Amino acid sequence: MIKQNNMNLSDHVTLAEFCHSDTAKRRGIDNTITDPNHLAAAKLLCEKVFEPMRLHFGVPIHISSGYRSGALNRAVKGSASSQHCKAEAFDLDADRYGKVTNAQIFEYIKENITFDQMIWEFGNDSQPDWVHVSYKAKGNRGQILKAKKINGSTVYLAFS
Ligand SMILES: [Zn+2]
Repeated sequence: MIKQNNMNLSDHVTLAEFCHSDTAKRRGIDNTITDPNHLAAAKLLCEKVFEPMRLHFGVPIHISSGYRSGALNRAVKGSASSQHCKAEAFDLDADRYGKVTNAQIFEYIKENITFDQMIWEFGNDSQPDWVHVSYKAKGNRGQILKAKKINGSTVYLAFS
């Protein structure tokens, strides 16, 4: 059992922030990380993706969604194979603090950071609503997709 809610995953990310979810809170869903493998994956993601980006911009960047327990993932209708459930992915929403834009962090990660998958999530051609990024211990694919709503359903297109 991992209890230290104030523990840090990396210099600028706490475990509490990585596990925070308004939906989980509202519905009384337990969204704590209990698997040590998930904790290790979360630390790796924060150290390899979040910290270099944070260091480059030098401003706070909001994580709008990190870990999702199975119950939370079902509640938010996430994909069953979502990397959020393995603590390998987070959603970044830089707009929350307004210091840098989501397009800026997307571009920076694309050019400078190793990742498994990155998704330009909705928005328009100049700004995504948020940026999804995943990182794996091995076999990072560097795949980039763009999520769009077409006739009410989400489609993932190759990013160009
Ligand atoms: Zn995501």
